[in-house]
Amino acid sequence: MCYIVLAHTYLSCSKQEIEPQHHPPYGGIQLKAVDRTDPCPTFLWHTLTQAEIEQTLKTGSAGLNAAEVSQRIKQYGPNRLSTQKRRGVLFRLFMQFHNILLYVMLGAAVITALLGHWIDTGVLLAAVVINAIIGFIQEGKAEAALDAIRAMLSPRATVIRNGKKHEVNAENLVPGDWVILVAGDRVPADLRLVSTTELRIDEAALTGESVSVEKNTDTAQAATPLGDRYGMAYSGTVVVYGMGTGIVIATGSMTELGKINQLLTGIQSLTTPLLRQIDGFGRVLAIVIIALCVITFILGTMWRNIAPAEMFLMVVALAASAIPEGLPAIMTVTLAIGVQRMARRNAIIRRLPAVEALGSVTVICSDKTGTLTRNEMTVQRIICAGHIFDVGGTGYSPVGDFSKEGRIIDPDHYPALSMAIRTGVLCNEARLCEENGQWSVEGDPTEGALLVAGNKAGFHQHIADAAWPRVGSIPFDSRHRFMATYHRDSDGEPWIFVKGAPERILEICSMQLDDDGERPLVADYWHRKASRTAASGLRLLGLACKRATPAKEHLDFSDVESGYTLLALVGIIDPPREEAVQAIAECHRAGIQVKMITGDHEETARTIGAQLNIGIGKKAMSGADIALVDDAQLRRIVLQVDVFARASPEHKLRLVQALQEDSQVVAMTGDGVNDAPALKKANVGVAMGMKGTEAAKEASDIVLADDNFATIVNAVREGRTVYDNIKKFILFMLPTNGGEALVVIAAILFELTLPLTPAQVLWINMVTSSTLGLALAFEPAERNIMSRRPRPPEEPLLSGFFIWRVLMVSMLMMGCTLFLFLWELNHGTSIESARTIAVSTIVMAEIFYLVNSRYIFASVMNREGLTGNYYVLISIVICIALQFAYTEIPLLQAIFQSTSLSILEWLKVLCAGLLIFFIAELEKMALRAGIAPARIQHMR
Ligand code: ATP
Repeated sequence: MCYIVLAHTYLSCSKQEIEPQHHPPYGGIQLKAVDRTDPCPTFLWHTLTQAEIEQTLKTGSAGLNAAEVSQRIKQYGPNRLSTQKRRGVLFRLFMQFHNILLYVMLGAAVITALLGHWIDTGVLLAAVVINAIIGFIQEGKAEAALDAIRAMLSPRATVIRNGKKHEVNAENLVPGDWVILVAGDRVPADLRLVSTTELRIDEAALTGESVSVEKNTDTAQAATPLGDRYGMAYSGTVVVYGMGTGIVIATGSMTELGKINQLLTGIQSLTTPLLRQIDGFGRVLAIVIIALCVITFILGTMWRNIAPAEMFLMVVALAASAIPEGLPAIMTVTLAIGVQRMARRNAIIRRLPAVEALGSVTVICSDKTGTLTRNEMTVQRIICAGHIFDVGGTGYSPVGDFSKEGRIIDPDHYPALSMAIRTGVLCNEARLCEENGQWSVEGDPTEGALLVAGNKAGFHQHIADAAWPRVGSIPFDSRHRFMATYHRDSDGEPWIFVKGAPERILEICSMQLDDDGERPLVADYWHRKASRTAASGLRLLGLACKRATPAKEHLDFSDVESGYTLLALVGIIDPPREEAVQAIAECHRAGIQVKMITGDHEETARTIGAQLNIGIGKKAMSGADIALVDDAQLRRIVLQVDVFARASPEHKLRLVQALQEDSQVVAMTGDGVNDAPALKKANVGVAMGMKGTEAAKEASDIVLADDNFATIVNAVREGRTVYDNIKKFILFMLPTNGGEALVVIAAILFELTLPLTPAQVLWINMVTSSTLGLALAFEPAERNIMSRRPRPPEEPLLSGFFIWRVLMVSMLMMGCTLFLFLWELNHGTSIESARTIAVSTIVMAEIFYLVNSRYIFASVMNREGLTGNYYVLISIVICIALQFAYTEIPLLQAIFQSTSLSILEWLKVLCAGLLIFFIAELEKMALRAGIAPARIQHMR
C-alpha cells in the first residue's frame, strides 16, 4: 500500500476554498498527514510516481471520459482563479464624488445654503448628483466593454480524453486530465509530468526565477522547494522549449498560483499616457480656475466693493462654467468604444496604450504564413531524385491524383515517393478531421497538407500510427526549422524521420533515394530544384530518414546531425489572402510601410511578396545576411528592404530595434514563444489568436482573433479614429466652457449685470456637456483617415492651433451671448427674459458647434457632415427638448427664473448659433486654403 502524504486538516480553510477537496478521489489509498502548519490541504504530488498519481486520481494514459470530466467539474469547480474582488456598486458610486470639482461644488452648496439661496443650493446639489451618476454609468459601460474583451482571451489547453487529443478551454480542465504541453503554452493547471522531451519551463511567474528550468519526470523529496521540483509543471508558468505530458493534480484556486492568489497579467485598467496627460491637464486647469476665482472674489469685494455674498455667487458661476468636468469620463468612454469596435473587427486590445500607438504606426512588420497568406496549404509538387510529381486537388479534402508529366501514376511504384509520403505522415503532429463531408486540420496546416497527400496516396494516419508506432520526437521549432520522430516498424526495426527547411535537411543528408536504391547525395541538383520551386511561390519542405536508434535513451539533437537519406522536396501552395492585398495598398496610401519577415525560403518569400505588392523592385534579405551586418549597417539597410526571409525571432528583435532607432513606430506580428522579446519591444506587438502561443499573446499589445493582416490595418484605422475623436471632443468641450466663463468674466470686469446666474450656468453644463459631447465619442472614422500620414508620436495634443481654435470659438460664443443679452436689456426686456435668451444662445451655439466639431478641418456642409453621426442627431434633439422645457415648464421657470421665448426671440437665438456655425466653417476653409497647410497636411 502506498502512503500519500496529506498536509494538515481542512479545518482552517475557508469553506469556498476547501469545497473542491471535500471528497478527494483517494482510491482507497491510505493518507498520512504531515506539516500541521499548512493552512490548506496539499498532496505532496512531487513525491509520487506516475503509477501512484494515476491510482490516486483514477486516471490512465487514455485520459478521462466525458462522464468523469463532468462529474469532476461539478466536484472541483472550473479551473479558474477567482477574479479580483470587484469594488461594490455603492463604493463605485461613492467614488464618483471623489473629484476636485465636485468638492468645490459641494462647498459652494454649503455656502449658498448658509446664505439662504436655497434654489442655488438645490441646483448645485442636483448638478453634483447628476455628474456622479453620469460618471458612474460611463465607467460601468467602459468596464463592461473590457470584461467582454477579457473573456475573448481565455486560454486553451490540449488534453487527452477518451484516448484522443482535444483542444479545450483551459477552464474545463479537471484533476486527472492528461495535458499535452508544447513550446509557447502557458501551463494551464498544476501538473505532475509523465513524459518530457527537452521540456524547459519559465517559472518566473511563480518563483521569480528568470532562467528557464529543465523538466523531467523524476520524483522529488517532500521538502524540495517549488523551483526544484523538476517533475512538476505549475499553472501560469510558460513552456519555452520542447514538449511534455502531465496529469492535472490541481486546478483553479488549489494550484500553487491560486494559493498565492496572484492573477496573471490581463488587460490593464482604463488608462493610457494620453488620458493621463489630459487628466493632469484637467487638474491643473481646475486649480488655475479656482485661483482665478479667488482673485476675482478678492478684486470684486475689495476693489469694486461688491457685497461678498453676491460676489461669491459670481465666482461660483465662474468656476462652474470654466471647469471641464466631463473631460476624463468622456475620454474614457471614447477609448472604450474604440476598443470595443476593434474587438468587433477581430483585434483584441490587451494593453490600452496600444490604441494610441496604433494611430502613429509608420511600419508594420508582418509574418507571412497565415497572416498575409491564407494558411490553407496543399501539397502541389513532390520532387524526388530524377522525378517530379504533381499532386491534384485543393484544400484539405483528400481527393486528387499523383501524376508525372501529365500521366496519373501509382505512388507505390516509386520507392522514394512512397517513402517520402510515409515520412510526411509519420513525422507529423496534426490531425485530419472530417465532419459532414467537410475536411479540416487540427494543428499546423503545413503538416495537415502532408496528411492530405498521404490520404490521397492511400497512406492514412491511423494505419501509419498502428504500423509504425512512435517512440520519441523532437518538435518543430522555427529556430532549428525541422522536426524529427523516432519509430519502430512492424519488424521492430528502428527509424528516424525528419522533415524541415530544405537547407537544414540537406545539411544532414549524405545519401539520396532513387528508383534503384540509395546513392550519394547530389546536393547541386537539390539546391537548383529548391530555388526553382520556391521561385514559383511554393513553400518548401525537405523529407529524409535514417535507419537507426537514438544514441541515448531519448531522441535528441545529436541524432539529427548526419547520416540521413534524402527522400524528396515537397512544394506546398499557400495563396495570398485577397484582403491582405487591399490592406497593403491601404497602408501604402496611409504612409505606412509594410515589411514581410518570414521563416520561409527567400525565393518563396520574394514571389509571395511580389503577389502582395511588398518589396517589388527591392532586394530581399535573408536571416543569414542580417546576422552578418552590425546594428549601424542594419539601420541603414532596414528601410531599403521589405522582404526578410529565413529570419528567426532574434532577427525580428534586431529589425524592430533598427527601425525604432530610425524613429519609426513599429507594429510587429508574432506567434511563437521566441517572438515574445520582439513583440514586447515593438511599439505595438501583435500576436496571432489562432496559431499564436500563449507566450506570444502575453507579450503582445493586441491579439488578432483571425490572424489576418487586414485586421491590423483595421485596428490602425480605429486607433486613428479614437485619437481623432478625443481631439474633437476636447476641441468641442474647451471652447464651450471657455465661452461661458468669458461671459461671466466680462460681466464682472465691466460691472455688467450678470447674464447668467450660477444655477443657469449649471443648467447649461448639465444639458450640454452630458448630452452633446458624448456623441463625439461615437464619431465614425473620417473618409480620408487612411490617406493621411501617420501622426508623429511626439505631437502635443494641445498645440498652438488648438489654443487658437479654443480662443476663437470661446470669443464668438461670448460675443454673441453678451450682444444679445445687452441688446435685450437696452430694449427694455426684463432681466429674466434677457438671461433666458443668453442661456438659450449658449445652448444653441453649442448645438451648432457640435456639428462643426465632427470634422476638425474638413467641411461639414454636406450630407455626411450634417447627418452622418446618428448620435449627434439624437443628442441635438434631446438638447433642444430640454431647452424648450427650460423655457416653457413652470417648475423649471421657477427654479431657474427662466421665461417663455417668442418666435422672434428664438429666431435671434437661432441666428447666433448659425453665425458661429458659419464662422467656424469659414475658419476651416481658410485653413484648408493654405493659411496653415503644413499643420493640416497629415490630417487630410
Ligand atoms: P512565417 O514566419 O511567415 O510564419 P513560416 O511558417 O514559413 O513563415 P517558420 O514556421 O519559421 O516560418 O518555418 C520555416 C521553415 O521551416 C518553413 O519554410 C518550412 O520549410 C519549415 N517548416 C515549417 N513548418 C514545419 C513543420 N511543421 N515541420 C517541419 N518543418 C517545417
